[in-house]
Amino acid sequence: MAVKIAITGFGGRMGRALAEAVAQSDKAELSAAIVRPGSSLVGADAGEVAGLGRNGLAIVDSLEQAQFDVLIDFTAPAATQVNAAYCAAHGRPIVIGTTGFDAAQKEELLAQAGKVPLCLASNFSTGVNLCFNLLETAARVLGDDADIEVVEAHHRHKVDAPSGTALSMGEVIAETLGRDLEKVAVYGREGQTGARERDTIGFATVRGGDVVGDHTVMFLADGERVEITHKASSRLAFARGAVRAALWLTGDGQNGDRAAGHYDMRDVLGLKA
Ligand code: NAP
Repeated sequence: MAVKIAITGFGGRMGRALAEAVAQSDKAELSAAIVRPGSSLVGADAGEVAGLGRNGLAIVDSLEQAQFDVLIDFTAPAATQVNAAYCAAHGRPIVIGTTGFDAAQKEELLAQAGKVPLCLASNFSTGVNLCFNLLETAARVLGDDADIEVVEAHHRHKVDAPSGTALSMGEVIAETLGRDLEKVAVYGREGQTGARERDTIGFATVRGGDVVGDHTVMFLADGERVEITHKASSRLAFARGAVRAALWLTGDGQNGDRAAGHYDMRDVLGLKA
């Protein structure tokens, strides 16, 4: 039996990409498409809105009206908090791609992982998650001899900076090197900044056009430098990963849900040691 997937933020860029990824999977089916309360999309055909042709599923504006095995949520922090609380209260696994949580929001969100399986990732693409492993290796080998800088670029509509992925890359490196990212991160530079301190990790942000998501981490040593780059050219890369995570959380609909807990995409891909 296909796993029933609900998508919140259905009218958004990722909502539509997720609908396409679900349609491409023979193990999943779209069972609910949810938008903001009062949206003009309520009642419209979900398949048509996603550009996939009519599928007879009417868009709704609350989770109470949805039947589903697992929710995929790529919306905004405030909406994700509410949706995760609903899933926790109703025993439904949740995949969360939303970025831009502050520390208190993230803590509150992860508390829901005590009740249901929750997969949270700043980036669901296979390539970026592979890059996390490459970054661990690079940091281990080069880290204390290199200056480390993270540069990211995204489309003009993105509302948070630096990207969640850039921050995750910084976290992976800081953890590998035994540094506290909150203390060593430098976000942008301007004016009389003084010489660079070796332990810092710098972040630079570019916004514009229709860039889906570019990330480069530079390890700048004396006489040589290593750059690890990932470029996403389609949101389907994230959407397919999120659907894979949703299936994994439900044991592919065969083995029952995973144990309640906090997972990420590296768990899904088996990339953790
Ligand atoms: P988007 O096009 O702006 O879509 C966001 C959707 O969420 C919209 O449909 C919006 O509805 C809905 N929404 C926002 N606040 C809401 C609320 N309070 N209640 C109900 N619905 C609400 O943005 P996007 O590009 O799809 O990205 C969405 C999120 O995913 C962002 O945080 C982005 O950084 C993240 N993202 C993550 C990954 C990953 O791999 N983890 C990849 C890409 C994007 P309205 O249109 O009615 O406002």
